[in-house]
Amino acid sequence: MQELLCRLVAECRDACSSGGVASYIPELAKADPRMLGVSVLTTERTFFQGGDASFPFTMQSISKLISLALAIEELGEDHVFERVGMDPTADPFNSIMRLEMVRPHRPQNPLINAGALVILSLLPYRDSKTRIAVVLAWARRLLGNNAITVHEPTYISEKNTSDRNRSLAFFLRSVGSLKGDVEDLLDTYFRQCSMSVTTKELAFLGMVLALDGIDPFSGERLLRRATARVLRALMATCGLYDGSGEFAVRVGIPAKSGVGGGIVAAVPGRMGIGVFGPALDGKGNSVGGMAVLEHLSARGNLRVL
Ligand code: GLN
Repeated sequence: MQELLCRLVAECRDACSSGGVASYIPELAKADPRMLGVSVLTTERTFFQGGDASFPFTMQSISKLISLALAIEELGEDHVFERVGMDPTADPFNSIMRLEMVRPHRPQNPLINAGALVILSLLPYRDSKTRIAVVLAWARRLLGNNAITVHEPTYISEKNTSDRNRSLAFFLRSVGSLKGDVEDLLDTYFRQCSMSVTTKELAFLGMVLALDGIDPFSGERLLRRATARVLRALMATCGLYDGSGEFAVRVGIPAKSGVGGGIVAAVPGRMGIGVFGPALDGKGNSVGGMAVLEHLSARGNLRVL
């Protein structure tokens, strides 16, 4: 497996040149577009790695899975999905258009930015400080690493260039879809997006979801089975935004991407996978990361969709 992963990274590295790093968050623009890495965690509880598997990057939209899991566990599925839909969208992840056109003004799913903002607003904590402390605690458990922290330069960079997310949040509040202090809420959102990980932590998270919520090492239940299944279903249908359909056809595994270049994938009962490649396609998904997943899925016969 180790050998296969190193070979896949070498084969797919050239694909990175067709993408570009995210530039709308200046800190992300500093990434090297040729980086590519992968980690796999199997049922034998062994990690296999290839390429830049240990290079740290920020979770960005992958963090939406953490706060969604937290919201479903704490508030229940019914409560959460009264306020956010569960359908895919053909629009970009930060689109504002449908929010005004569709009534009720409810984000279509929790994995687009508008949906993630509503999810965070549902969490019953006093302020950003308390909210991010709870999200971090959950992230550490679900990622299998107690040392996970927020990468401050990325957090500040995103906060200083956040016109679009600000617009989404204020619009949502103006139509009553979101309540509370918008600035405080945005602060939690930027911090959660800036949590720093490597592909190893993503492989761990993928395996927790693949095992229906069980910690692959301790055997402890971290999430209810139903919560893990909801997350996997949303990953399969909405995890790569408007690129979710093509990804399902090419790769066939539930996954979630982020503009930091990460993708987490969960092969039910079998495997957790984390990939990292900061060169993105026009939809904000890692070009090299998708190529690695496509080859790994084909060679390992991992397709479940
Ligand atoms: N922090 C990013 C944003 O809000 C997350 C988007 C993403 O990863 N697709 O724009």
